[in-house]
Amino acid sequence: PGVQLPHDPEKKTVVVLGSGWGATAFLKSLDTTDYNVVVVSPRNYFLFTPLLPSVAVGTLSTRSILQPTRYVTRHKARSVKVIEAEAQSVDPINKTVSFIDNSDIQGSVSSTTIPYDYLVYAVGAETQTFGIPGVQEHACFMKELQDADKFQRRFLDCLESSAFPGQSDDEIGRLLHMVVVGGGPTGVELSGELHDFLEQDLKSWYPELAGKIKITLVEALPSVLPMFSKRLIDYTMSTFKESKIDILTQTMVKEVKERSVMLAMPDKSIVEMPCGMVVWAAGNRNRKITQDLMAQLPADQANKRGITIDEYMQMKGTRESIFAIGDCTASSHAPTAQVASQQGAYLARAFAQRAKRDALQARLTDLESSAAMMLHEDERNKVVEQVETVKRSLAKFKIRPFTYSHQGTLAYIGSDKAIADLPFFNGSFASGGVLTYYFWRSAYLSTLFSLRNRTLVATDWVRTKVFGRDVSREW
Ligand code: FAD
Ligand code: NAD
Repeated sequence: PGVQLPHDPEKKTVVVLGSGWGATAFLKSLDTTDYNVVVVSPRNYFLFTPLLPSVAVGTLSTRSILQPTRYVTRHKARSVKVIEAEAQSVDPINKTVSFIDNSDIQGSVSSTTIPYDYLVYAVGAETQTFGIPGVQEHACFMKELQDADKFQRRFLDCLESSAFPGQSDDEIGRLLHMVVVGGGPTGVELSGELHDFLEQDLKSWYPELAGKIKITLVEALPSVLPMFSKRLIDYTMSTFKESKIDILTQTMVKEVKERSVMLAMPDKSIVEMPCGMVVWAAGNRNRKITQDLMAQLPADQANKRGITIDEYMQMKGTRESIFAIGDCTASSHAPTAQVASQQGAYLARAFAQRAKRDALQARLTDLESSAAMMLHEDERNKVVEQVETVKRSLAKFKIRPFTYSHQGTLAYIGSDKAIADLPFFNGSFASGGVLTYYFWRSAYLSTLFSLRNRTLVATDWVRTKVFGRDVSREW
């Protein structure tokens, strides 16, 4: 009863978990004529994460950086079933996935289990908290769309509360102190975007408060952005200094309280720093479903960073049935969109080869069984010859391994400046400044998956330039 899953018994079923960078790149490139394809993800859209901090401060509108997954799948040669649901568990032995509808509104059925021949596992990661007290309760993250919404709401709330008549100077100082934890690219880009919001809009909207807003970036390591070259790290530090963004390095956040953060300073002393809000951007950790899946294969899956895969994206220990890509894996590559999307596109090409191989394998089985049934020797010999030809083709069959091609690393640092480390012949080319910012903009505009999103983002940039960001509360 009800809506059926695409099912052709002649074809193998590929279940894709996720609708992020890896899964979307896979779906875009996959030839769906070869497989029954089912996508399961708790969000029915793709999120262009590099521009999430711009949504958080209102430079871009939310919808501009989303692409509904059905836009991606609707033009496919064979229909693809998209299910908005959260996978709860994977059984790698019986090859099944169980998932639930955990949205606010549910029908009478809200959980089920389906079988797969191949599972493309691309569930990404969640934000690392290291179990630090108060992070879940009091901090905002910057990973999902709802994080950007929450950030905007809280930030505007801090502004309005500090403008409330009779607020003491100390309390205004606290409410207008924004702390960003984590000096990786997420924390740096968000600090830069916050600074722009302050300079370009808040100064005119809240002139009496603008001078009191303070941004502090806290990083446990000796420097921010360790993936960038030293020159660009120095450039970022000096740009932040000019922008009056304080950077505290070798400083670790030990606890987040409702109105402050506890810091372990470089000299090991513990300092309480009052603040209005905290944004937590301290890196990635595995999702629970990933930990549970790995725990079922302890002999092959012991890496704490994520799923161990081989150069064909196969999850070790699952013998060509689970393929893992993106942030949920532990490989020699950084957990970036660039890696996840190249892995997804590679996997789609490998699946096209795999379909050809599976077809040859099926033909071989047919020929062998018909040869066994043939009574006349001449006829049997003809079939045996065909069997040998197919066997030779199969023996030559090779699926190529994945190779990563690094296109460079880019980050926006605020004040219309960006930094870029780009591969150049055998070395690299580092650049930072306003020109790099225009390069950053054009690179992201061209990476956006559809013309619709490119148009929306470009229009938002013009809108923000002409009219500024909107500081009214929507809810
Ligand atoms: P994701 O894109 O996170 O997708 C995971 C998918 O799985 C999502 O659709 C999610 O809803 C779904 N999912 C979650 N749980 C389940 C479940 N139980 N069942 C089914 N589906 C599930 N990288 C760059 O290279 N360049 C950048 O400029 C850049 N900027 C970034 C900016 C920010 C703010 C952030 C947070 C990250 C940025 N990254 C950037 C990193 C990049 O976003 C990730 O590396 C990339 O998203 C990884 O892709 P993925 O497919 O593995 O995971
Ligand atoms: P990250 O892992 O790169 O950085 C997190 C930082 O938080 C680390 O430097 C860590 O030392 C620090 N930290 C952790 N706990 C702390 C604590 N208690 N107190 C103070 N500091 C603490 O995380 P990210 O920035 O979210 O990036 C995640 C991945 O996404 C990375 O691979 C990154 O390259 C990628 N990304 C890329 C871009 C880009 O290319 N522009 C943008 C965002 C994210």
